[in-house]
Amino acid sequence: MLQVEVFVFNPFQENTIVLYDETKDCVILDPGCYELDEKTELTEFIRKNGLHVKMLLNTHCHIDHVLGNSFVKETYKTKLFIHRHDEFVLRAVSSYASNYGFPQYDPATPDGYLEDGTDITFGNQKFSILFVPGHAPGHVAFYNDKAKVLIGGDVLFRNSIGRTDLPGGNFDTLIQSIHEKLFTLPDDVTVYPGHGPETTIGFEKKNNPFCAVTTN
Ligand SMILES: [Zn+2]
Ligand SMILES: [Zn+2]
Repeated sequence: MLQVEVFVFNPFQENTIVLYDETKDCVILDPGCYELDEKTELTEFIRKNGLHVKMLLNTHCHIDHVLGNSFVKETYKTKLFIHRHDEFVLRAVSSYASNYGFPQYDPATPDGYLEDGTDITFGNQKFSILFVPGHAPGHVAFYNDKAKVLIGGDVLFRNSIGRTDLPGGNFDTLIQSIHEKLFTLPDDVTVYPGHGPETTIGFEKKNNPFCAVTTN
């Protein structure tokens, strides 16, 4: 059975996620760990549960989601996968990390790319990759239809949506992604966002103030 473990890291209160199941295989998504105690919290969880790290994934490459990329890659000798359209976003992080208070940021390069409509698998789990641009140009979400779990990144939050004023962001594109890719999923799908508490597709369809906005 799929297990979802959420850690809240760095001053942006970013949700770092570890997915694993009974096979003990796991993937790490958006490692935002920067300080030593954050890195230790992550590695201790993996050690105590006897997990084997199979992949490192980024939903998108804003600084708060990639601070621990290099640490995870080196610690677990694992490969990093992102969407191609966020590669320039990832590359730009080094240029502004110090100004954001992360002078020790260590950049990591991707080893492969995530393609819309394809799957990633680990253990007994399968997640489809959904391309959901708007908050970031190469933003993806990961959907497990059996477990009814969506790892959504910064697209859809409880009662809110991702900001669209950063480079490569676009409000209409974001709304379109939500309506066409997320609100077409079943209502009882649990959404784990990049910040804040989990929610469901059904709850957001009913309550999200941005839900009524449509594009043409
Ligand atoms: Zn973001
Ligand atoms: Zn974020």
